[in-house]
Amino acid sequence: MGTPSEIMSHESPIPFDHNRIGAAAVYCSDGRFGEQVDDLLFKTLKLPRYDRLVVPGGAACLAGHFTAYREEEGVAEQLRFLLAVHEVRHVVLIAHQDCAYYTQWLHVRPIQLEDRQRADLGKAVRHVKRFGIDLVVSAYFARRQGDRVSFERVHV
Ligand SMILES: [Zn+2]
Repeated sequence: MGTPSEIMSHESPIPFDHNRIGAAAVYCSDGRFGEQVDDLLFKTLKLPRYDRLVVPGGAACLAGHFTAYREEEGVAEQLRFLLAVHEVRHVVLIAHQDCAYYTQWLHVRPIQLEDRQRADLGKAVRHVKRFGIDLVVSAYFARRQGDRVSFERVHV
């Protein structure tokens, strides 16, 4: 095992499958939740190889915050690209507990955080649904429970 800069090549044992699944997920860059998000998408939602649109705050960037309007334009454009070119028909939006994008960038107080995130998921779902009448859009909230992460469906 060398340091990352010393490793010159790596062959992944995971086989490549060229089939697209027609789904995309939008969620926060916070890498501590990454594997659990994959687990939700792969195993529970049965969406292996889903397209990832990962940005700080995740779907917060689709909820119409003035302080995130530049990110909103970018994320919306990137998502529309995936819908058109990768023929995405199912979009999953995921927010996570204690998201620093909300507390540090949007200055949401911790006591208001989850309510705000759930409201934003609702706005983001409505925003994404306007991108296509045949789109299925669902939302989840990721919560830490001890050393585990649970995902709750958010009905909007
Ligand atoms: Zn976050």
